[in-house]
Amino acid sequence: ESVINRIAAGEIIHRPAAALKELIENSLDAESTSIKITVKDGGVKLLQIQDNGCGIRKTDLPILAERFTTSKISTFSDLSKLTTYGFRGEALASMSFVAHLSVVTKTKEDTLCLESLLRRRSSRNDGTTITIENLFYNTPTRLGALRGASEEYARILDVVQKYAIHNPHVAFSCKKAGSASPDVSTPSGSDTKTAIRMIYGQTIVKDLLHSKILPTDSEADSEAGENDDSPLWSAEAFFTNANYQAKKTVLLLFINHRLVESSRIKKALEGIYVGVLPKGTSPFMYLSLQIDPQSIDVNVHPTKREVRFLNEDEIIERLANSMQGTLLNQSQ
Ligand code: ADP
Ligand code: MG
Repeated sequence: ESVINRIAAGEIIHRPAAALKELIENSLDAESTSIKITVKDGGVKLLQIQDNGCGIRKTDLPILAERFTTSKISTFSDLSKLTTYGFRGEALASMSFVAHLSVVTKTKEDTLCLESLLRRRSSRNDGTTITIENLFYNTPTRLGALRGASEEYARILDVVQKYAIHNPHVAFSCKKAGSASPDVSTPSGSDTKTAIRMIYGQTIVKDLLHSKILPTDSEADSEAGENDDSPLWSAEAFFTNANYQAKKTVLLLFINHRLVESSRIKKALEGIYVGVLPKGTSPFMYLSLQIDPQSIDVNVHPTKREVRFLNEDEIIERLANSMQGTLLNQSQ
């Protein structure tokens, strides 16, 4: 049975960066404004995340590392209403099967912090620190499938950078254990453009276009109608113009605030640069899409980052057309 758990866990958490993504999302769900990450040996020896969020209530601690338990839904009917969709209460449980996991947490109401499972300790600020050590110590195949520490660390930095841009109000830092200076560091209370500049450099910002995109009128008319005025979906994009030419496409894609991948969106958005950018050069794109959580295909496992959703073709076409309009306008 524990072997089965380990195999399942290894599929959910297949590398340190995947574990970190789940941990960051938990910290964001807890409304943290500061998230500090420390990494040793590409995240295999140590992956620690310290936040200043709401903390974990004493009553929730025992269910923390149990599969399919979550504090984020109380009844099954709430499931479809939830605006995040990666929740399944599986992340921490999975990590506990394939690593040594410890938790120190304090809510506003607690006077003492709680360490691991209910061992009381001295003080700390409100928030939660989760420490993952010796990832895959009991799953040698997973361990063996990892790249070297520097490659795994690069993937970790990539995840942190993307979340930092998507959450410019939150201060992020990421460093190697024992190192004095962080490799990613953003202040709290920033804005998207500033965050992009801090992470991807000054040069990108002067070539950055910005669009807010909504459904076309006809789309909205045909499908909404009845109850409210809120659009079916909405999107915001920052993307480079013809002057910016990178070697490889950088795409930050968030759907309902979760970092995901969609080869269809990527292809469509790269398509708008055909004939605009010289052959062999690529853009930078950041797209945040919000859609009705009920329209996301829940059969796709939350950790499979490739997403599918209803009306995908229409939405993608509208996004690409709108962004292309901005791009062409600007480059005349
Ligand atoms: P899920 O996020 O799907 O609920 P997880 O396994 O990721 O499942 O986390 C389990 C539970 O642990 C969460 O529902 C939440 O109650 C608690 N939790 C985890 N990390 C944090 C954190 N950083 N701050 C507050 N609560 C947390
Ligand atoms: Mg989670």
